This record gives sequence, structure tokens and C-alpha cells, in this order.
Amino acid sequence: MIIIASENGRVGIVEAMHVLRCGGSALDAVETGIRLVEDNAEDETVGVGGLPNLLGVVQLDASIMDGRTRACGAVGAVRDYAHPITIARRVMEELPHVFLVGEGAERFAAEIGAERRQLLTEKAAETWRKRMLEAMSVAELERLGEDPHLRRWVGVTMDPRLAGGTVNFIAQDAEGNIACGVSTSGWAWKYPGRLGDSPVIGAGNYADNRYGAAACTGLGEMTIRAGTARSVVLYMQMGMDVEEACCQAMKDLQELRPGGGIDIIALDRHGRPAAVSNEKVGGTYVVMTDEMDTYEERPRTLVPPLVGKG
Ligand code: ASP
Repeated sequence: MIIIASENGRVGIVEAMHVLRCGGSALDAVETGIRLVEDNAEDETVGVGGLPNLLGVVQLDASIMDGRTRACGAVGAVRDYAHPITIARRVMEELPHVFLVGEGAERFAAEIGAERRQLLTEKAAETWRKRMLEAMSVAELERLGEDPHLRRWVGVTMDPRLAGGTVNFIAQDAEGNIACGVSTSGWAWKYPGRLGDSPVIGAGNYADNRYGAAACTGLGEMTIRAGTARSVVLYMQMGMDVEEACCQAMKDLQELRPGGGIDIIALDRHGRPAAVSNEKVGGTYVVMTDEMDTYEERPRTLVPPLVGKG
């Protein structure tokens, strides 16, 4: 049994392994691990601590995929609920659909009794206000909600350092089944309603017991264009090992302009992990097997973007 996660998954991975040790499924482990990250108010990129969109509203995205059947569920732009990963799992299990967004997703969350939570922390509200006032006047900020040209602020408030952040979890249980989950508050200061790759199956998340699973963090606008998570699994299907598959999927992104930071984690069907990054020198991910007392932090392989192109 093994679980791997993006580095911010460290707050949930030990408990997720406990779930597997107690006989829980890969899906249970992924959901448990991600819920703990969503509860971590210190994490400004996922769940309750997440940074808001351009209007100061937190909108969360998440997806989950079951490698046994390739069943999956996803939610996007969800407000006022603490655990989008659980809502995504229930979409998968209870509806004939894969993907719910906005009001429909919130309505479904209410129906299943999902936990409601005030999402904008004081710290996130302060960071948002400070950042907006670097770009606009107090009067402009006060009228932002009614601004007929809201799109003009997307450029000026774009801050790549704050764009990054999502949690990825992949687990393989005692029966060899694989599940993959992703949760995020998305790109800070995004245009309202913007979805990244995290809830888009095939872009930020893909799992297939026969070959393995992959999940992404970083600029979702890129991995959506390349179908990155699905590509990694397809490269494994074509015979590449898990590390080669990640590197090849990263190379597929190199031509895209404008480029951005991308990280991938992946697991093959034999439980072998790999992780790559195109910009984080010293980037890591976390790994825990059932033989370990706690998780290990391991380096990501760096696959830098092409220089001098585009
Ligand atoms: N992938 C996420 C998104 O595009 C954000 C991130 O991981 O930086 O919404």
C-alpha cells in the first residue's frame, strides 16, 4: 500500500495511511487526506484558508477518480463549503453526472448535508485587499462588484507567485486499487467562475488501475490544453515507466506560450511513484508506504522549460 501527495499533503498523509491500514479503500484514503488539507487554514491554496477571486469571494474546485472503473466526480466554483472533495465524491457516487459547478454544486452540497463554512479567512481578506489596492484606488475597489469591465483587472492583479497551489493525493490500497484526488482554491484573484485543471478530469487528475494515476498542480490553463494527467497515464499504457511518462508529459507543455509553473505526481500500477516540476528547484513531494512510520519527503525531478523559444 502506498500514498503519495504534493508537499502540502503532509498534513493529511499519515491519517490517510491509517485509513488504508484499517482496511479502507484508496478512495477513502484520498478523501481523508485531502479533507485534512482543506481544513488547514494555514494553506492559502486549498479549502478554508484559500485565497479569493477578484471580487474577494473564495471559490473552490475539486475532483476524485476511481481507478477501478474510471468513475469520477468533480465540482467547480463552490462557495461556502469546507470540503469540495467530499462533494465531488458524492457527485460520483450518487448522480449520473461527473461535473457540477456553482449554484448547482452548492445545491447538491446542501442536499447531502455537506459541512457549510465561512470561507474567507481574515488573513486571506487582508491579503486580497492589500493586493487590490496596489492596482486600484479605494473608490475603484468599492465599486468592483459593479464594474462593467472587470476583466481589465485580471491582468494587473496577476501574481504568479500566488497563482500556485493545489493538493494532489494518489493512493493504492491493499487490493491494488488506485484512486486520485485534487482540491484547490485555484488561481488567486481569478476572474469569478474561472475553473483551472483541478476539477477537469484528464487535465489535473486521472486514474486507471490498469496503468496508474497522475495529478497536477500549477497553471491549470496549461495542463487543460495538453490533457496532462491523462497523457501521463497514456504514456504508461504505451510502455514508458512512470518517471519517463511524467517527463514526456512535461515536454508536451514546453511549447505552450505563455508558459507557467507545473508540477506532476504519478504512481504506476506496481506502486512505483514519480514526481516532476518544470520550475521548482528543490521541489518535493511526500510518499508513505504501509511499512513506514511516517512520510518521507522526496525530490521532484526538474524538467526545465525550453530556453529561447516562443
Ligand atoms: N492548478 C490550479 C489551478 O489552475 C492552481 C495551482 O495548482 O496553482 O486552478
